[in-house]
Amino acid sequence: MNNLAVTRQNFNDWMVPVFAPANFILVRGQGSHVWDQNDKQYIDFAGGIAVNALGHAHPVAVQALTEQATQLWHIGNGYTNEPVLRLAKQLVENTFADKVFFCNSGAEANEAALKLARKVGLLSGHANKNQIVAFKNAFHGRTLFTVTAGGQPKYSQDFAPLPEGIQHTAFNDLEQAKAVINENTCAVIVEPIQGEGGVLPADLEFLKGLRQLCDEHGAVLIFDEVQTGVGRTGSLYAYMNTGVTPDILTTAKALGGGFPIGAMIITNQYANMYAVGDHGTTYGGNPLACAVANAVFEFINTPEVLEGVQQRFDYFVTGLNKINAKFNVFEQIRGQGLLIGCVLKAEHAGQAKNIVNLAGEQGLLALVAGPNVVRFTPSLIIPFEDIDEGLSRFEQALEKFSHELKECA
Ligand SMILES: *Cc1c(COP(=O)(O)O)cnc(C)c1O
Repeated sequence: MNNLAVTRQNFNDWMVPVFAPANFILVRGQGSHVWDQNDKQYIDFAGGIAVNALGHAHPVAVQALTEQATQLWHIGNGYTNEPVLRLAKQLVENTFADKVFFCNSGAEANEAALKLARKVGLLSGHANKNQIVAFKNAFHGRTLFTVTAGGQPKYSQDFAPLPEGIQHTAFNDLEQAKAVINENTCAVIVEPIQGEGGVLPADLEFLKGLRQLCDEHGAVLIFDEVQTGVGRTGSLYAYMNTGVTPDILTTAKALGGGFPIGAMIITNQYANMYAVGDHGTTYGGNPLACAVANAVFEFINTPEVLEGVQQRFDYFVTGLNKINAKFNVFEQIRGQGLLIGCVLKAEHAGQAKNIVNLAGEQGLLALVAGPNVVRFTPSLIIPFEDIDEGLSRFEQALEKFSHELKECA
């Protein structure tokens, strides 16, 4: 079976059709270069959706993985292990948090946080303190609880009946938030930058206002940093740029640099409201995942890497503005660090996916964030010459896009 020849058509034959992958199959990667079955090379501006923070096959991650692979893969949570404790120490020492819960994905980290919020409400002694406030256009994962907390009904409506007690209000609108946050609120969950929703940063005043409202009403403030965390914005976590500290933060994606892992990090005040047996996971905190995450986290959490992310942001924005001066298809380039959104002008609404497909033809991996935003989330250490080459391929894709437009006109 390992040598079975497979094609893109086999995806349609054998895979549940919840995805519509590109029409090529990638087989190997090195740094920010990836190759497909035909040995065509791509520049990777997608980074496995903000996951491959050190690019592909980084020696530090490879070494951590292979060393741990000869030692201990999995033992279950009836036993603790060394890598998990080392990773917990790194997270606790470098953030606001006192305690950590490990799992395997962003959705699971948010699920752990939202369940805990309900427990906090229960233990508060106020009857009905079980309402969760979330925001329109948000994305928190695909489990039933997290997809309901997300603010895009198209992802949840087909799966009703949905969990109750989640209210959605407009992102960046503090007045609306004030109107719904009250004594019955047990938690507010927010992304410091809405990632999937279009690379839309939260206003500082909005986040400060949410912090204040949570304090006034005894609600837990949860920052979903699954996409923005682990250096993505040029800070270790995005909250560090805001002057606002959450009670709970969820992190995944870049944390394992490509190995699946997630975590909920939390203050003592709330951590101790989960008791033995309240929540759990089979794989969470497994030594293999934690050994890789330890190496990735330690590598990223240095001034050189984090400052490099900021430099690359400036470099991207300069390059993208230059390209846009030529084609005039984007209304705005926005984001922070290496979470960058190119927002299409109204007349090109809905064309983001088309542009990403054209980029693929030119040898560039890119992402969308909704129908109107082309998103880049490359490796945090992508070499500048790869940025140049990727932008040049992006320019060629936009050239084709503009050409198509003229032909249609
Ligand atoms: C990707 C993402 C999630 C879901 O993470 P999974 O690992 O896919 O479950 C949750 N929240 C945000 C902000 C994300 O970007």
